[in-house]
Amino acid sequence: MADSNLPSHASVVVIGGGIMGCSTLYHLAKMGVTDAILVERNKLTSGTTWHSAAQVRALRHSRNLTRMIQYSVDLYAQLEAETGQSVGWIQKGSLSIATNPDRLIHIRRQEALAHAYGIEVRSISAAEAQERWPLMNAEDVLGAVWSPDDGRVSPSDVCAALVKAARGLGARLFENTGVTGILTENGRIRGVETSRGTIMCDAVALCAGLWSREVGAMAGAEVPLLACEHFYLLTKPVEGITGNMPTLSDHDSHLYIRDDSGGLLVGCFEPMGKPIDPGRLDADFEFQLLPEDWDHFEPMMLNALHRLPALETAEVKMLLNGPESFTPDGTFMLGETAETRGLFLGCGMNSVGIASGGGAGMNLAHCIVHGHTAYDLGEADAKRFAPVFNSLDHLMDRAPEILGTHYDIAYPGKQMTTARGLRKLPLHAAYVAEHAEFGQFYGWERPLFFRRNSDVIPTFFRPAYFDQIRDEVRAAHEAAAIFDASPFGKIEVTGPDAEAFLLKTCAGHMARAPGSVIYSAVLNERGTYESDLTAQRIAEDHYRLFTGTAAIKRDLAWFRRHAEGYDVTLTDSTEDYAVLGLMGPDAARIVADCGAPELNDLNYFRVGPAHIAGKHVRAARMSYVGEAGWEITCKSENARTIYAALTAAGARPAGLYAQTSMRIEKGFCAMGHELDGDTTPIQAGLMFATRTSGGFVGFEALQERRAQGARPRILSLTFDDPDAVPIGHEPIYLGKDIIGQTTSCAFGHRVGKPVALAHVSKPLETGQKVRVDVARTLFDATATIGPLFDPKGLRMKPKTPAFSER
Ligand SMILES: Cc1cc2nc3c(=O)[nH]c(=O)nc-3n(C[C@H](O)[C@H](O)[C@H](O)COP(=O)(O)OP(=O)(O)OC[C@H]3O[C@@H](n4cnc5c(N)ncnc54)[C@H](O)[C@@H]3O)c2cc1C
Repeated sequence: MADSNLPSHASVVVIGGGIMGCSTLYHLAKMGVTDAILVERNKLTSGTTWHSAAQVRALRHSRNLTRMIQYSVDLYAQLEAETGQSVGWIQKGSLSIATNPDRLIHIRRQEALAHAYGIEVRSISAAEAQERWPLMNAEDVLGAVWSPDDGRVSPSDVCAALVKAARGLGARLFENTGVTGILTENGRIRGVETSRGTIMCDAVALCAGLWSREVGAMAGAEVPLLACEHFYLLTKPVEGITGNMPTLSDHDSHLYIRDDSGGLLVGCFEPMGKPIDPGRLDADFEFQLLPEDWDHFEPMMLNALHRLPALETAEVKMLLNGPESFTPDGTFMLGETAETRGLFLGCGMNSVGIASGGGAGMNLAHCIVHGHTAYDLGEADAKRFAPVFNSLDHLMDRAPEILGTHYDIAYPGKQMTTARGLRKLPLHAAYVAEHAEFGQFYGWERPLFFRRNSDVIPTFFRPAYFDQIRDEVRAAHEAAAIFDASPFGKIEVTGPDAEAFLLKTCAGHMARAPGSVIYSAVLNERGTYESDLTAQRIAEDHYRLFTGTAAIKRDLAWFRRHAEGYDVTLTDSTEDYAVLGLMGPDAARIVADCGAPELNDLNYFRVGPAHIAGKHVRAARMSYVGEAGWEITCKSENARTIYAALTAAGARPAGLYAQTSMRIEKGFCAMGHELDGDTTPIQAGLMFATRTSGGFVGFEALQERRAQGARPRILSLTFDDPDAVPIGHEPIYLGKDIIGQTTSCAFGHRVGKPVALAHVSKPLETGQKVRVDVARTLFDATATIGPLFDPKGLRMKPKTPAFSER
């Protein structure tokens, strides 16, 4: 079916003929890129796609990932009618069982989410689950959820249909055409070299599956993914399997089960997978599999025998072992790389490539054509990984763990155990000495909380370290605490055009005088958030920007791409500086004790130089936690001296959990939670931080949205029941209607109740009652427009300690 004459030019070259490449080609053609071509070094689907179990389960942990797979479901369901090519779409539903109480909570949370996302899902009893899967041993099953709309496809037929439709629109396919090099000029894609000649092009969609890391390297791009072995057992026909059945997910046993040609298909995501050495699977790996490994599969086989006693006598056809690629956080990579303009990733599918393929290909094509995905997919952003994760050693450690976490219970705050300690804060040793519990963010080890007195046991309920967090909040509220913000991304913007450049790229009041601190949104042309940041204007021609920990690569790329025509230099100074947030009523005394009394004369949102313990600092009078204090920036090598002085004067360290709890009480929005590429400052209630005079990217779009009646839709919630434990994404009910979801949640220690920030679609008033669905239990909560904890003028000594002892 392939075309024969390789063109010398195409607008877009798609590399790889698996589900991702085929779907991207189809959607490019549909979006009008009718000269797009796909090059596949072997035959279509010959990498991972051909042997996929190809289940399509729509429900994911976030709205937009779910929306993306729902798109796949709709696409696969209609492709046959569109193309005349059967795609083997079988919509028999899926059944997820729970065999322990936490899994039951997990699946009930999924059910709650499904309601918010408009997916039909309902809880059923163990008896009903057994009726739907009669071969199942249900003696230990506590309950299940039933998703009638899920299904499966024939992956090769889907690809054939997609390519057929794309070719009908003018796109072309070249098999046996391997990409051997990528041509770039000034950091931009110019073309690809293939085994059959060179094709010049404007953009490349990199959909080369598990080989994408090495193909990306041809263009100097980081593509952190690694393949692991992935197993499923196939049997000959088994009595009791009649026709097609739902997919049975027994995630506590690490298993998925379905019928296959009258027999059973039993696949697993065992707790620790087997990584595949890079280079082991070369260009000759075409329609191939890896050797069976019964020793490795044995524990899973025992689980399967327990769940399906009929397996005991079933005749095994094969133990299929196929490679699949995994990323450091278990989500695929989609979008333009930071390193190379015009190079777009659509890879690292983490074993949901068929389910995701339809929607992910549509979003990738949308990104190439329109410059952004169809809706926010920040969690899959190609620029979200720290460079350190592209190291093979770290990927060899992390990828097998990611495979094993595929069916994990989604406890809040769960941390990976492999590839840790990659980036340490300047104060790491001090935090270890203080018994910090660390979490990993963009490779950095950040203290989550201190003074651990027990093992951290994952839970959906109040955690054992609840009191530690309360004590840290208390320190910040009644005395002084140090919050380490050193991993914040830092960008130096210098040069004669620094102000003009930032006036264009930032929506905030960037022209303020040197010595100012400026909070700003960074918007795209649609008027939605690319980022938010705090800028310190150090001199007329020098700003220091502080962005989110995981945003540095993305933000730096964004600023660099907008710098053309401006006389500015942009430098990543993240590792040069430490940032210590000294917060609380004792902060004033402490800085005076440490040699910097002049900081007390600094007004809010001003930054000034000082010396603490004899070391030069720049202290910004601001607070992320609703307590008076300074964010103190110093050279990384001076952090220990300064920290020693501050703690000797009475400050104590506090972790990220305390900070988050206080941030939510204070009503501060955070990127990736309240703010994202689907949200404008109007909806976030942050228009005060944008310039009414305009002149920045996104201004016209904001005006248009305002004219269309956009209004704030983020608010605060206080739960009536102090024992409620919301963790985020919970649906919010007003009467019978779902009107929104929680975005950030914590126990608010100053408020004495669980608290949340939330997105709502209907305007509410302060004091209005709603109900929040936490794992199918409805909790009463009260809405507040604005912060829940807002000291009237931040003070340095508490007047009325309002501290919760709960
Ligand atoms: C055993 C198993 C079961 C699975 N079950 C499911 C499931 O139930 N549901 C689900 O959603 N997902 C499942 N998956 C995952 C899914 O199959 C994959 O995520 C998906 O097939 C990956 O598609 P892809 O297009 O990214 O990669 P591939 O299908 O591997 O396609 C990449 C293509 O790129 C080509 N290529 C590589 N290098 C070059 C080059 N230099 N030049 C040109 N071409 C190149 C390769 O030849 C290959 O054909 C399963 C995977 C396995 C292994």
